[in-house]
Amino acid sequence: MADPNQIPNPRGKKPGGRLAGRPGPASAMWYVLAFLLLLALGQAFFFADPAGQALSYSDFKRMVREGRVQEVTVAEEQVRWTGTDAPDGRQRAFSAVRVEDPTLLEELERHGVKYTGEVSSRWLGDALGWVIPLLFLVALWTFFFRRMSGAEGGVMSFARSKAKVFADDDVKVRFSDVAGVDEAAEELREIVEFLKTPKKYTSIGGRIPKGVLLVGPPGTGKTLLARAVAGEAKVPFFSLSGSEFVEMFVGVGAARVRDLFAQADGKAPCIIFIDELDAIGKVRIQTPMGSHEEREQTLNQLLAEMDGFDGRKGIIIMGATNRPEVLDPALLRPGRFDRQVLVDKPDIRGREDILRIHVRNVTVDDSVDLKVLAARTAGFAGADLANLVNEAALLAARRDKKAVEMKDFNEAIDRVIAGLEKKRVMSDKERRIVAFHEAGHAIVATVLPGLDPVHKISIVARGFGALGYTLQLPLEDRYLMTRQDLHSQLSVLLGGRSAEEIAFGEISTGAQNDLQRATDIARAMVTEFGMSEVLGAVNYNGQKRAAFLDSPFVQERGAYAEETAQKIDSEVKRIIAEAHDKARRILRERRDVLDTLSERLLVKEVIEADELAAIMEADMAAPDPDAIPVEVPPPAPASA
Ligand code: ADP
Ligand code: MG
Ligand code: ZN
Repeated sequence: MADPNQIPNPRGKKPGGRLAGRPGPASAMWYVLAFLLLLALGQAFFFADPAGQALSYSDFKRMVREGRVQEVTVAEEQVRWTGTDAPDGRQRAFSAVRVEDPTLLEELERHGVKYTGEVSSRWLGDALGWVIPLLFLVALWTFFFRRMSGAEGGVMSFARSKAKVFADDDVKVRFSDVAGVDEAAEELREIVEFLKTPKKYTSIGGRIPKGVLLVGPPGTGKTLLARAVAGEAKVPFFSLSGSEFVEMFVGVGAARVRDLFAQADGKAPCIIFIDELDAIGKVRIQTPMGSHEEREQTLNQLLAEMDGFDGRKGIIIMGATNRPEVLDPALLRPGRFDRQVLVDKPDIRGREDILRIHVRNVTVDDSVDLKVLAARTAGFAGADLANLVNEAALLAARRDKKAVEMKDFNEAIDRVIAGLEKKRVMSDKERRIVAFHEAGHAIVATVLPGLDPVHKISIVARGFGALGYTLQLPLEDRYLMTRQDLHSQLSVLLGGRSAEEIAFGEISTGAQNDLQRATDIARAMVTEFGMSEVLGAVNYNGQKRAAFLDSPFVQERGAYAEETAQKIDSEVKRIIAEAHDKARRILRERRDVLDTLSERLLVKEVIEADELAAIMEADMAAPDPDAIPVEVPPPAPASA
């Protein structure tokens, strides 16, 4: 189907009326040809015989002898004269090529003919000798100059941004064109409300977010959502991609930013959308090679503009990125992109909805079951699904079918997956591992006391390295954690790995991040919180440096003996091993729940708190006869 992003920019709408076409290479050729033609004509004109009828030299001599010549001009290569040759007696002009004739003057004198000499018109040739190359060079120079300045983004028009202005009706995207990202859409509805009636909000004195950052893996519909906001609110949509800002000339990007905001200023309420924000918003670092001055200037200008304009006017700046971790923290401060909206990959229901949107424009056969397709496309983002529908339609068309059948879809899935191979779509075996891993986290987190309740378990890959996740939401703000809390947390972190061990007798690399975090916590317990009897209540971490001096390159270690370092290591190891044992024990006792939960996850991909509670409870009702009593078995309150 047609990609709504690809709405062509009508040329006539370009700001500044820069409609002057760029002379392409072909038209330049024409200029040169026309020039040469003119030259040839000119030459023909200049060198054409201006003296009228050409006769032979002997004719000339004859006319002289017969006394019919009035006046003669003797040039270097030519003789021109006026005389009467015809019976009508009228004077005419003649010319002849000059012949070596030493007695000519004598003869002319004798017949009383008036004569003049003439210096040759060589100057024309001489002049042309250097004028032509010069003109040629000028033509060439003009051509390149125009190329550079005439077109969009040329050297001469750098100050003007390439922002495309879409008037009200131009953005046709609505929220109904976006699916599978309900939470993000919900958050953005508020922005739409504000854009529709900014006064309603500002009169109460509320502060409206200036900047909204859409964060999520590629192809999940960030750009689409931003356009939908503009479409719903019926406001102009200024969009620019971060990479377009980055130019080779210092100052160009900054000028573009300034210009973009100036344009938008006159059109409020409106949306300024900066796609691929990471292209300009990368952390500003001082490298030994010097800084990336251009990008920094651009970023600084953006920050200044965001701070400078009045948020009550009704201009919302939206940004999109799939690499939020590289953004400069300054961009995320209050008053800038202070609201972040996660646009995640869709779950199975979301995929079905997205497919439904995209098959609207395709004739599909009754055999097509979108539910089945959604189940087969784990890990697909919205753009992949759009692509899938298109591929299936192409396959069907190639086979001269009237409608797209299930067979075409299945074949298209294989194709798209092959194309995505680089992008890592999970295999069935990997999905099983991830399902058990996350179920392990969730069960341990539910069973152990003093932990935040589990809000959601998902095996939809998040695109930021995590293959699945278990989300715990705190019931209250915490300022203190007890030793018991920390031990429990460690067990939860190791729950994933433990579940893999129990279910497959094998461990995968998927737990790497868990182990990292567990090790950090355990080490902090030993070296910072004084929670180990062996080492006592001593902080071994040395003085923490002020946060703003923190750089990722220096890792400072407190001052302690090598022997102490060994003790710390063994204590960390012991604490983790205990937590691991506890997690394993909990899961072994609940092998049935682990299996049920994992299978359920494989089918549904996302499990919410209430369903988790139901699964856990069903198990509690049938107590395990050989259960070893654990600390506090009742599940924690499961609603958040
Ligand atoms: P992103 O900006 O996140 O990389 P895009 O918004 O450019 O992704 O998505 C590209 C195309 O994929 C969209 O134009 C749309 O056709 C399709 N698409 C992506 N996500 C969705 C979605 N959630 N719902 C419907 N279509 C989607
Ligand atoms: Mg995009
Ligand atoms: Zn994990």
